[in-house]
Amino acid sequence: MRFKISLIAVLIFFLLPDLCSFGVTDFEIYEASALNQVIKRNKLVVGMEVKFFPFEYVDTDGRPIGFDVELAKIAAMELGVEIEIKDMEFSGLIPALQAGKIDMIISGMTRTPARARTVSYTQPYFKTGLCALISNKRAPEVSETVQLNAENRILAVKLGTTGDIVTARLFPKARVKRFKEETECVLEVVSGRADAFIYDEVSIIRHFALNKETTHAILKPFTYEPYAIAIRHGDFDFLNWLNLLLETIKADGRYEELRGKYFSDLQQRSG
Ligand code: GLN
Repeated sequence: MRFKISLIAVLIFFLLPDLCSFGVTDFEIYEASALNQVIKRNKLVVGMEVKFFPFEYVDTDGRPIGFDVELAKIAAMELGVEIEIKDMEFSGLIPALQAGKIDMIISGMTRTPARARTVSYTQPYFKTGLCALISNKRAPEVSETVQLNAENRILAVKLGTTGDIVTARLFPKARVKRFKEETECVLEVVSGRADAFIYDEVSIIRHFALNKETTHAILKPFTYEPYAIAIRHGDFDFLNWLNLLLETIKADGRYEELRGKYFSDLQQRSG
């Protein structure tokens, strides 16, 4: 009996430190968080595709501006660090985040359950939906989305966007044409090579306004698109910080100011 007890004591003595090392301490979680790394290196690296007006685009000097750009700048300012914006293709943003090349994505990106399997999202900072820009030449009679689900329809989408993903599900009978650039999709519709372009509300409103002669539009959103900031999966320190930031700027007027600056001329639902 005695022997047994001392054997157990010896085993605990030698094995306990090993067992403990499997656990991760709070300090290690803090060290690994992008929040800590950003502060340590004195720079916040933000990934976006600077081609999504008015969320991210360039001014006449080629500098990134827009709603998301200003939001990212507020984050950097509140962290007390510099900002670096990395412009990349939309479909390359999540891989870049996972590879540690950027600290966060803010790029008019819709948070979806599928994407949230690989990255973590903050609370939404803008709520919108998908709409359709329709070709007067190819589809003058189309006024409802159900009409787009037919074999003779050609739908243009931007590669890797929710418009791309949703089109395959909602309009399975139609033929889908995928393009890297938003402008290519618009051109397809304007020139009558596609029936419709399925994309985010704010962009469709703008393209319709710019192409009144050649297009019409379905401007009642037919999906739910909450835009959110994406960070590496499971980084709860950074996630908490960013959610607190969004909550704070929504309460202190900075968020409304930004909305007024970028969306005053667009008819927008509140988000
Ligand atoms: N909101 C869309 C998405 O997340 C498109 C965003 C974009 O093109 N920047 O897929």
